[in-house]
Amino acid sequence: MTLTTRFAPSPTGYLHVGGARTALYSWLYAKKNGGDFILRIEDTDLERSTQASVDAIMDGMNWLNLEWTHGPYFQTERFDRYNEAIEQLLASGNAYRCYSTSEEVDAMREEAKAKGEIEKYNGLWRDRTDHPADKPFVIRFKNPLEGDVIIQDMVKGDIAISNEQLDDLIIARSDGTPTYNLTVVVDDWDMKVSHVVRGDDHVSNTPKQINILRALGADVPQYAHIPMILGDDGKRLSKRHGAVGVMQYRDDGFLPEALLNYLVRLGWSHGDQEIFSREEMIELFDLKDCNRAPSGFNTDKLIWVNQHYMKTMDPAYVAKHLAWHMADQGINTDNGPALADVVKIQADRVKTLKEMADISRYFYEDFTELDAKAVKKHLRPVVKEPMMLVKDKLAALTDWSPEPIHAAIKDTAVELALGMGKVGMPLRVAATGGGNSPSLDITLALLDQSKVIERIEHALVVVEARIAAG
Ligand code: GLU
Repeated sequence: MTLTTRFAPSPTGYLHVGGARTALYSWLYAKKNGGDFILRIEDTDLERSTQASVDAIMDGMNWLNLEWTHGPYFQTERFDRYNEAIEQLLASGNAYRCYSTSEEVDAMREEAKAKGEIEKYNGLWRDRTDHPADKPFVIRFKNPLEGDVIIQDMVKGDIAISNEQLDDLIIARSDGTPTYNLTVVVDDWDMKVSHVVRGDDHVSNTPKQINILRALGADVPQYAHIPMILGDDGKRLSKRHGAVGVMQYRDDGFLPEALLNYLVRLGWSHGDQEIFSREEMIELFDLKDCNRAPSGFNTDKLIWVNQHYMKTMDPAYVAKHLAWHMADQGINTDNGPALADVVKIQADRVKTLKEMADISRYFYEDFTELDAKAVKKHLRPVVKEPMMLVKDKLAALTDWSPEPIHAAIKDTAVELALGMGKVGMPLRVAATGGGNSPSLDITLALLDQSKVIERIEHALVVVEARIAAG
């Protein structure tokens, strides 16, 4: 039998990091075992589900490259099947029509509470057959009255819940629509899901689902409930903590590999190893090695992982993601150095691709504004002479590559008996517009020779103005 996992988001918002981690763990476990991974959109809550959220979830899955083998299935397309299952439960005596009004049910709960008992529906209609003809009803599952349900959770270990604790839950509302626990059960059954990997906010649903599965005569899957993710303040991760949507991480300049690597470690470990390639994750991941305690989200660590991937992945690959950010920042990269060359020299200077795009603008765009601080510090009247000399030397080069460029700067410094920095810094400000850049010879080599000369001339105008101003 094929091992099958699924990711079953409700499309009521974007794909957040908690969901992405659940999807990743499900995907990894299927991959590792040569199994199938299903994407199922649980869109039965018509009021809260939106197409925009479906799209956002798909975008997130695609960006992370978590490809599914089956689906996406949509629960709203499966109502006939849910009704069939409800009919089956009614026919087998495992479900019943309940005519109690919500006020009556509230009163039952109050009464139970007053007696110090578990607040639940009291089973009034459980065995009645005197059904009124024209009154609305819901359909309730006939939960077993005795015994325990044991969840053999792959992460949390065995969890026992007494059936006495469990309500006769509603499986069809008065308008006939099926409820969450029923749809999940029917889908997991029909889709032959062997392993349910999901957030531990669902632990309380699991015994109900197990009971319904048994009543339907379905196999009970294995469960793995993953502890939640907390923000750095120890509270459940939410919008308050900043970015939580996966695509926001793309927008903020993270590589998908970095986010995946960060997420796999957020709740799972393999010794003290921090960096895992996709292949390694697949090979080493196991649900039973997941942490039992909640994990805390740590942006600094995510940045560290991102830096690692920007520096070590194939520059041509990183360049594809950088291209997105260049376009996002309105930088046209049609003319200028190959982005992969930019990645090679900028990767160890930034935290994110967004920053990388920002500090690489000068390779593709001309500028007239120079960084004011850098001008004040480095474009003083005294730099006129070295700037003019280095300009001539650079203009005379027939081989526009780092070595001769370096020699031209060095010769200028030697001829004028100046330190390298006294030539290099004004030149850097002229060529890049600011005081920060990778090694000057490589930076200049990536720019056109004529462009560099033009920029030196522009900087000289600024120096002249300062001289004139006294
Ligand atoms: N649709 C549920 C959610 O988004 C998940 C259900 C499940 O994984 O069983 O929370």
